[in-house]
Amino acid sequence: MSASIMSGKELAAEIRAETADRAAKLAAAGTQPKLAVVVATADESSAWYVRSIARAAEKVGIVCDIVDLGADASADAIRTTLAELSADERTHGIILQTPLPGGAALEDLASAISPDKDVDGANPLSLGRLAAGLTAFAPATAEAVVAILDHHKVDLHGRHAVVVGRSTVVGKPAAHLLLDRHATVTICHSRTRDLAAVTAQGDVLVAAVGRAGLITGEHVKPGAVVVDVGTNPTDSGDLVGDVDASSALERAAAITPVPGGVGPVTTALLLRHTVQAATR
Ligand code: NAP
Repeated sequence: MSASIMSGKELAAEIRAETADRAAKLAAAGTQPKLAVVVATADESSAWYVRSIARAAEKVGIVCDIVDLGADASADAIRTTLAELSADERTHGIILQTPLPGGAALEDLASAISPDKDVDGANPLSLGRLAAGLTAFAPATAEAVVAILDHHKVDLHGRHAVVVGRSTVVGKPAAHLLLDRHATVTICHSRTRDLAAVTAQGDVLVAAVGRAGLITGEHVKPGAVVVDVGTNPTDSGDLVGDVDASSALERAAAITPVPGGVGPVTTALLLRHTVQAATR
């Protein structure tokens, strides 16, 4: 079976174009959309990701402020900065970048981000509202999973979606969003027994683990649609997903590439959320 590749690039370009248009209208009406990214790490891949968000923001007319508190910032200093940005009328979106110093929990510190400005859905209130079916910003990566399936016209209604990974930023919110779309959802994690037997039941399989190549052909139901959220750096400096594409491609009907799948859609959605926050 030859699987089709579900790129995220065209969808990301559409979202960026629509966002640039809305940002220009807001600026003309006197509101300059602004995103603040709070950083407290010296991690190089995190710095690369933050620079790529800043570049993408500026291209669509969103001012991006990188607030670097240094890798030894205290939890209190991070909380205070997030509270100040939440109160700042000129800042519309706030992202708290991970990793955090001293193993601080994102869910704990992100409580200081106003839900109105929580463009990456990191405040537990946002996830709670999402679970309750109320308006909230979803974590951009989780929303990107559903957006990419919609873009490629994958029907979710009544289908069995299996999500591997139960993190607060990806697995759990992705499962909620799939449930909202009337999929029957199973969530797997590191304690799941016989992972392949469970994942092979999924009409839609979402891999959000962070283990290169964990999902192989035997995990994939023939004809399934596979969304690979994983971004795992290799020794040679490339990025690979959680899905071993060569064996998965033999059974899947469609699969998202890494890079070029969920990643660009995630960044585009962060920008869209910022403009939505500036519009409110
Ligand atoms: P995380 O917080 O480390 O969570 C990983 C999840 O995978 C956990 O729920 C863990 O289970 C589960 N897991 C670990 N080993 C497993 C195994 N052998 N079998 C089944 N489940 C297993 O990671 P995350 O933040 O959700 O990120 C997941 C991946 O997505 C990473 O590669 C990350 O880089 C990528 N990501 C990509 C984007 C993007 O824009 N493309 C954005 C965010 C994250 P337990 O809960 O039992 O420990």
